[in-house]
Amino acid sequence: MEQDIYDVVVVGGGPAALTAAMFTARRGLRTVAVAKDLGGQLALTAWIENYPGVDRAGGHDLSTRMRVQAERDGAVLAFDEAVGMERHEGNTWILQLASGTTMQSRVIILSFGLTPNDLGATGEEMLRGKGMYYCQPVDAPRQDGKRVAVIGGGSAAAEAALELSRVAERVYCVHRREALRAEQQLIDRLSACKNVEMMMPYVVDTVRGGGAVESMALKPADPETGDAVGTDLRDVDIDSVFVAIGHRTATTWLDGVVDRNTRGEIIVDRDCRTNVGGVFAAGDVTDITYKQAVISAGEGAKAGLQAFKYLQDEDGKPAIMIDWDARGKS
Ligand code: NAP
Repeated sequence: MEQDIYDVVVVGGGPAALTAAMFTARRGLRTVAVAKDLGGQLALTAWIENYPGVDRAGGHDLSTRMRVQAERDGAVLAFDEAVGMERHEGNTWILQLASGTTMQSRVIILSFGLTPNDLGATGEEMLRGKGMYYCQPVDAPRQDGKRVAVIGGGSAAAEAALELSRVAERVYCVHRREALRAEQQLIDRLSACKNVEMMMPYVVDTVRGGGAVESMALKPADPETGDAVGTDLRDVDIDSVFVAIGHRTATTWLDGVVDRNTRGEIIVDRDCRTNVGGVFAAGDVTDITYKQAVISAGEGAKAGLQAFKYLQDEDGKPAIMIDWDARGKS
């Protein structure tokens, strides 16, 4: 059976993907965004305060607004997971999806962000989802009156701890160095919370529990290296653990398709082009330096415009007017 051919399939559902989809849809391109979930890391961020023009918004709320905007302009969102892609006849791409279906498109924009890192503690696998969480506490109210641990020293950990401190009985911030490296504003706010206890420098050796998390065993860490030292264990009773120790790329499904660096990030030029014609990439999954929602949105816009230019060139139509040229001529 003949398959529908999209102009653009965007892989991802975060700020880069939704902005790319909005930009291509606004140019009249038949666009679908394929995402495992809506919003990526942004949706899991309790509050975002550094997105220009938005004083303070819930991450999920801002993601929903981006989705509504992209759909308003004609993009379609499909919930599925991309697991493979290959070049097809007629200069198109076939994207394989976890559901067993495929999509065919002239352009692919890869913008599926990053995947949270595992802690590597004993007991982690067994208790995953049973009190061990790997995202910002969007469900913070469910931690009402509980004792929770937040692992990590970056802004994501500090934000999670702040959010949890509003409802939890006690929040233990566990970090392997002597100081957090989160934004100073967040650290200051955290220091003012009476129910937050800093546990530094420590690493989590073991998470214990039958059907759910009951306690954790901490090992002292060398603050220079962040590695565990000695054999002493400190036991702390807790009800849940929020792991916020950064993210990794999950791009192995692109082996042999697009070039990536040693960290697995997709290598792009400054116009979001990969090494392969018709395949663009944007946002945290690429080798850009800063991974922030506002930057991802901008990169998504660039990828969308570049995708449009690529299709215009392919069809022998006038290339997109470059804003800088347009300004000079007006
Ligand atoms: P991050 O800044 O990379 O911090 C990760 C933290 O986890 C570091 O403190 C790191 O320790 C620790 N860590 C890594 N591996 C570990 C392990 N195996 N065991 C124990 N600890 C480990 O990641 P992030 O906090 O997710 O932030 C990512 C990006 O998003 C950053 O650019 C951040 O600024 C941004 N962000 C911003 C906001 C905001 O603006 N409010 C909120 C959230 C995120 P070391 O310190 O020892 O390396």
